[in-house]
Amino acid sequence: MRRYHLFINGKFVDSVSGETFNVINPATEEVISEVPEATVEDTRKAVDAAYESQKKWARLPAIERAKYLRRIADGIRKNADMLATTIVEEQGKIRSLARVEVDFTADYIDYMAEWARRIEGEIIQSDRPNENILLYKMPIGVIAGILPWNFPFFLIARKMAPALITGNTIVVKPSSDTPNNAFEFAKIVAESGLPEGIFNLVSGKGSVVGNELASNPKVGMVSFTGSVETGSRIMEAASKNITKVSLELGGKAPAIVMDDADIDLAVKAIKDSRVINTGQVCNCAERVYVHDRIADEFIEKMIDAMKETRYGDPMKEDVDMGPLINSKALESVDGMVKRAIGEGAKMVIGGSAEERKKGFFYKPTVLVDCRQEMEIVHKEIFGPVLPILRFKDLDEAIEYANDCEYGLTSSIYTQNLDVVMRAANEIKFGETYVNRENFEAMQGFHAGWRKSGIGGDDGKHGLEEFVKTHVVYIQYDQEKK
Ligand code: NAD
Repeated sequence: MRRYHLFINGKFVDSVSGETFNVINPATEEVISEVPEATVEDTRKAVDAAYESQKKWARLPAIERAKYLRRIADGIRKNADMLATTIVEEQGKIRSLARVEVDFTADYIDYMAEWARRIEGEIIQSDRPNENILLYKMPIGVIAGILPWNFPFFLIARKMAPALITGNTIVVKPSSDTPNNAFEFAKIVAESGLPEGIFNLVSGKGSVVGNELASNPKVGMVSFTGSVETGSRIMEAASKNITKVSLELGGKAPAIVMDDADIDLAVKAIKDSRVINTGQVCNCAERVYVHDRIADEFIEKMIDAMKETRYGDPMKEDVDMGPLINSKALESVDGMVKRAIGEGAKMVIGGSAEERKKGFFYKPTVLVDCRQEMEIVHKEIFGPVLPILRFKDLDEAIEYANDCEYGLTSSIYTQNLDVVMRAANEIKFGETYVNRENFEAMQGFHAGWRKSGIGGDDGKHGLEEFVKTHVVYIQYDQEKK
């Protein structure tokens, strides 16, 4: 069994309490590693290290900071196989997807390094003669990155790369379900020669480590990805010091399939979106609205597509879907499906995978006869379950899609430009995908509306989350010779 250590101020250390917790493989339920249970004192040490090293790091030209990022990206590529295996073992996604996550992470870090020569301020016209107004983009200071378990490796980079290129330092807290890949990331950071204190990693309880990060006065911004409930707690803790928060929270993405849609394309994209990472993706289709005229054909093809989905050991090549993350997730998904059936939904395929003695598996599941008011149409499922509803016209589809407390992503399938334009203007979500699967680009902007979050990640606008402005008014004497 592997044993990992916290990474604080450039050194791998144990928690001051010496306490540890176990990490479980969700496909086998075996213990795979022992990880430090950090205390408030450990967390403060990490924040202090990040705080002390930040001034010097910010003075380094951005192009020099970029060199370290590129070295880390190279280190990830060199260790890609081992990293993918580590992710599969603790998170349960299939190996090919884990490999995509690792490769995408390296590319993301390189992409953020490219911003080195593009972080720009402004010179603003003054109302006075002989005056310049300079607007600087400055680092915020110490960033706390608090992570979920579903894309655990990529999310380290999504926080760390924009933080570091803009001159901030960071303390990362991984999810207790998936800390191993973060420790492997820290080893690559250590090998890159990044100066001590710039990147720190502290594992432990959200209520201890996470809460300390959100309420520590030396933290300048909490960049959090996770559930709405935790996001709300973090906002509360951060409010003590008026600390900035950037929150990427849950979603309940609607997919609208119009009567002129390419049905095969819609079925494939929505099915892929529902089974990728066993349905545990914030941006993926969580409910489908199908036009009455094509609903029967769509449902038939969707059932066939879901039937073909192979689930099982995520290490195996011939598997499309692994287990859910833990027993709590399994209970939650199964409970939601049972309640939906109790409310009148019909399960045409799927349900719990009780025949498997070990692992947190749930079958690819399709629910028809769902109604808008049902819990399963409003609450995030986070499992491979697809509730299908019918609509009669675009107005109704848009009304149903918007009837939701989340506002992360959405999608629409149609050949009609007028329909696309109406959806683009009337759907109240941070992202809309037209005739394609839900998957954001690193140069885009991933930001939820309503309870899906505040702020956003990726691209130019995501990078701007990590800087603050400093405006300097400079008067000068024009007569001076
Ligand atoms: P979670 O909220 O349970 O946990 C996320 C992290 O917060 C963990 O590291 C946890 O230890 C920590 N935490 C828990 N309590 C805390 C507290 N009081 N203070 C500070 N930190 C605390 O979420 P999860 O189950 O790990 O992830 C699943 C959720 O993440 C889903 O809702 C999903 O939609 C969302 N998600 C959103 C995005 C996005 O980009 N919007 C991406 C991935 C996942």
